[in-house]
Amino acid sequence: MLENPTAWRLIPFVTILCTMLLWETLAPRRTRVESRSLRTLHNLLLTVVNSLALKLVPILSAVGAASLAEDYHVGLLHWIDLPIWLDWVLAIVLFDLLIYWQHVAAHHVPMLWMVHRVHHADHDLDASSGLRFHPLEILFSMLVKTLGAIVLGAPPEAILLFEIILNGCALFNHSNIHLPLPLERFLRVLIVTPDMHRIHHSVERDETNSNYGFNIAVWDRLFGTYRDQPRGDQATLKLGLPEYPDARQTMPVWAMLMMPFRTPMLEAEQATGDLSQLGPGGIGGEDALQHGTELQQL
Ligand SMILES: [Zn+2]
Ligand SMILES: [Zn+2]
Repeated sequence: MLENPTAWRLIPFVTILCTMLLWETLAPRRTRVESRSLRTLHNLLLTVVNSLALKLVPILSAVGAASLAEDYHVGLLHWIDLPIWLDWVLAIVLFDLLIYWQHVAAHHVPMLWMVHRVHHADHDLDASSGLRFHPLEILFSMLVKTLGAIVLGAPPEAILLFEIILNGCALFNHSNIHLPLPLERFLRVLIVTPDMHRIHHSVERDETNSNYGFNIAVWDRLFGTYRDQPRGDQATLKLGLPEYPDARQTMPVWAMLMMPFRTPMLEAEQATGDLSQLGPGGIGGEDALQHGTELQQL
């Protein structure tokens, strides 16, 4: 696996992405509010920027760190003598737990939220949303995984497999696909389904702060952040962030890149000339006003 990691990453990624794009075309779950082609284009462009960002900082590499930890016999799994299959299972499950807590932190630490909101500002949700992360968040996530790989001493191939699974699950659980209800109810016991993750992208703050899992469905149930259904209907659930009501602020790749460095309240004011949209009784209500004010102060 480690001889050609690019092929190991690329082949499942392209296969799952194409499958989801086709599935979304044939059996969509919801009606879109923005142009599909434009959103896909800009989200893919952001993915290219993210790949370049990771190449520019090669010291951040979970697989590379795991290989070093293996060479120097560093990390918990190197110090405890367990069957190799158990090392793999523990590495994949514990890394998924790590990503769950990183995601919780992204919602509750203001500086991390300013970057993570790029992912949440999308007005639609489909497979391409699973790629929509700011480069700073991608680098931070790789830093977390790099440190995790050293502490855990996980097999590097297991870390590579985890990253492939994480990318595949992100494409799946953001996708706009219709799943038969019995299948959806069965799958969500095991893995995060699109209906589960869509609630996390709701414009309602309490719904946004739920269903943080990406792969295994158990973490949200275990830590009390699971939400079975939104208050409204899945088909009409409003997605995005109240402080970003305008697609011009959320879709172009340059707007996504600048989002952490701009104040959404002022942008909204410039775009609409009417702050009442964001205030109490408007799109976001009091939460949006308070949140926007917090961001202005940072
Ligand atoms: Zn989130
Ligand atoms: Zn998401």
